[in-house]
Amino acid sequence: MVDRQLRHRGIADERVLAVMASLPRELFIPPKLEAHAYMDDALPIDLGQTISQPYMVARMTELLQPTPGMHVLEVGTGSGYQAAVLARLGCSVVSIERHAPLADAARDRLEGLELGGSVRVVVGDGSVGRPEDAPFDAIIVTAAAPVVPRLLPGQLSDGGRLVVPVGPSQRQELTLVTRHGDDFETRDCGGCVFVPLLGAAGFREAAVGRRKWPGRQSLRSRPERPE
Ligand code: SAM
Repeated sequence: MVDRQLRHRGIADERVLAVMASLPRELFIPPKLEAHAYMDDALPIDLGQTISQPYMVARMTELLQPTPGMHVLEVGTGSGYQAAVLARLGCSVVSIERHAPLADAARDRLEGLELGGSVRVVVGDGSVGRPEDAPFDAIIVTAAAPVVPRLLPGQLSDGGRLVVPVGPSQRQELTLVTRHGDDFETRDCGGCVFVPLLGAAGFREAAVGRRKWPGRQSLRSRPERPE
């Protein structure tokens, strides 16, 4: 996985590569999909959600430039895999998930792992961030937002970085926002397709239900399955 899917496609941060080589992805997916654990693919988890493709996890992690001791907010805990990668890099992660059963399962999984850093999983609407734990050195949103969620850039510390997929249902742009004092620099970092960020600053649930989101796809329809 690391050589063929990550290094080969341009992931160059050796610390990220080493952590992803050491973290057993099969612990984060349903047992029946174990054979797919190291494929270059997002995989379905419970409640219609996904664990992101390893390449996308590596790319987003690299963009955050995580260093030990960094205080990080993850929006969209899902399986807990991305949070585990950041914690293994020494970060102290607050991860917020809107589905309590996913949050509970992720918490259980993470408790059994040697992480280096830490992960605190909380339940709530992460589209508005987590003001009570701000400021963050980095924020990662692992679901697609219609626009950069309004309240997130302001929860970054000076020099902090926010990575978020932004755009309509069929395709988004991985967007990096860097805070410089009161200024915010935005950079596009390539296309992606994620499941929707719902909530106050995300997509409306009713609208997602009506729209054909490429989320409810089977394992076979790989090219269209979102992160
Ligand atoms: N990072 C996850 C992992 O490593 O497995 C993958 C996350 S999955 C692609 C997106 C997650 O975002 C889903 O679990 C979904 O329930 C969650 N989500 C969507 N909108 C949310 C919101 N407003 N607040 C918190 N979580 C949200």
